[in-house]
Amino acid sequence: MKRRFLFGWLIVFMMSWTMTQANVFAMENGMSTGSEKRPTYIIDAKYDDATSKITGHYHVKIPVGEQKLQELYFHLYPNAFSNWKWGSASKPKKPGYLHVRNVKVDGSTARYHTKETLLKVSLPAYIQTGKTVQVEMDYELKLPQGGMRLNRFGDTAFLAQWYPMLAVKDQEGWHTDPYTSTGDPFYSRISDFKITFDIPKGYRLITSANDSSDSFSSKVTLQQSKVRDFAAVITKDYEPVRGKAGDVEVNLWYLKGMEDVAQELHHHAITAMKFFSKHFGDYPYKEVDVVLGETGYGIAGMEYPGLVTSLDKIPTRKGERPAVNVVAHELAHQWWYGVVGNNQVKEPWLDEGLTTFSEFLYMHEQMGEDEQKLLAKVAERTDQIHKEKGITSVESLYQYSDPVYGWMVYTRPAAMMWKLMEHLGKEKVLEILSTYYDRFRFRIATTQDFIHVASEVAGTDLKPFFHRWLYFQTDHKK
Ligand SMILES: [Zn+2]
Repeated sequence: MKRRFLFGWLIVFMMSWTMTQANVFAMENGMSTGSEKRPTYIIDAKYDDATSKITGHYHVKIPVGEQKLQELYFHLYPNAFSNWKWGSASKPKKPGYLHVRNVKVDGSTARYHTKETLLKVSLPAYIQTGKTVQVEMDYELKLPQGGMRLNRFGDTAFLAQWYPMLAVKDQEGWHTDPYTSTGDPFYSRISDFKITFDIPKGYRLITSANDSSDSFSSKVTLQQSKVRDFAAVITKDYEPVRGKAGDVEVNLWYLKGMEDVAQELHHHAITAMKFFSKHFGDYPYKEVDVVLGETGYGIAGMEYPGLVTSLDKIPTRKGERPAVNVVAHELAHQWWYGVVGNNQVKEPWLDEGLTTFSEFLYMHEQMGEDEQKLLAKVAERTDQIHKEKGITSVESLYQYSDPVYGWMVYTRPAAMMWKLMEHLGKEKVLEILSTYYDRFRFRIATTQDFIHVASEVAGTDLKPFFHRWLYFQTDHKK
């Protein structure tokens, strides 16, 4: 995600920047033993625009690893919008929810329990390790109006974290962390999806799958493999600008009134996809969609596999300008969060910091921007925050208040990578990033994994460097 500018003083310093081993855990989560064993979601979704509801049947096949499971957990994130707890400014105008019923395991009625944004499904004793368990249920999703990410606005339904999302179980156990409005409180495994959408006449679909050709059918089945999540936009409002970055289709979707920036942002979407592919490694899917427009309070843009959102324009000291940096930022997340996963609740810096650095690199090389002034301020400002609050750059989402989150999780790690580039040279830093990308493709990486890869590629122990920047340590005991 990228935060909007929330505070005036940030504008002064930050110029154009919107505030906005066991290398991995045993194959991501202890539930699966091979890279090809991943959950498959099969979802029927019927959209009714009169009631802003999606109803249908949900089915997920889950490979059970070598660890005996007694239960499964699913996140029902839309329930955060039924009783909003995160302040009136971000409160949706109309609430939303995700209700489930008729939960079955391998065809038999199962015991289940829902509490706010969490669903626990008990598993019968016969479930064997190494097998696949099938969970199904009926569901009803009500879209909030004015919700963060999940949102109904005009004739557009924005479906983000909109289905029961299987929680991750790793060596630390189940990750059932509750929703929060700070950052992106999501952590998910690479999965396969097959989704049949039934949409009213006149609507089209923009999704995480390759959907260009099917966009106007009323009933369409879309499939995507090896993605962490599946986002969809059902809309009558959006128009596309289409193009290609190599073999990858790059579509930019805009609303009426955004015509003045659509071409320029589409050009940068293509250039950014080429830039990141060249430096970090191939983008593994056939298509990416950039959807401009409102995605919720405090959010300038948001990343999903194969689909990102961005504002069309961002505020500057002199007025506004096209949101090139937000588009670049969200597209960089396809590499850092999308393909290389991390626990975004526990270590949000890992995807946000690398993504912000990628964004700065793009803005520096393609737009001629000079971030030196900003970056020079960052160490000083964040040292001061650390001194006052004792907080570091490697904390869980729940530890950060809003401006502190931006400084510690986005800018300080970006400044750290910039400093590393001054020490090692640009080529070495890009080699660190491409090696990290290659090694953790479709997996989950941790801070320690990143430091390990960086030290290996650099041929020198970078622990003291990273620990100083990330943990504010003067030695490297941690
Ligand atoms: Zn981000």
